Amino acid sequence: MELTSESSSSMRSKSGVGQVCDCGLPAKMFISKTARNPNRRFLGCELYKEGGNGHCKYFSWVDEEEVKGWPRRALVEAQAEINEKNKIISQLSTTIMELKGDLERNQLQKKKIDDMEAIVSRQRLVITGLTGLLVCAIGVIVLG
Ligand SMILES: [Zn+2]
Repeated sequence: MELTSESSSSMRSKSGVGQVCDCGLPAKMFISKTARNPNRRFLGCELYKEGGNGHCKYFSWVDEEEVKGWPRRALVEAQAEINEKNKIISQLSTTIMELKGDLERNQLQKKKIDDMEAIVSRQRLVITGLTGLLVCAIGVIVLG
């Protein structure tokens, strides 16, 4: 596609950026996969993924305003809520384990354990729902 210099300059601004890394190459956009910054876009060296060597340390977050539809804050909050629920589940699981240990001595605890397990499975359902929501939101951000 060799058209005019005008189209190539608009191509450049569309792909990102106009930013140049320390090697003098045009900066490339990546999507972060870390737990701390899930699906956040950043600019990095074009050589970033090629073996991890030979590239410079250029790195820059793309402004959060560029995330369309869902603000990044909402994703982070959802993630935090999931983490919180996971913590509750693991606490409840520990309690269940302890109660099961007592079971031999006290069969009446059985009812209590059943209740706890019902709570845990409800929490799991909530997490499944939140995770689905998160996946949707990520889809919106990545595709839209
Ligand atoms: Zn570079």
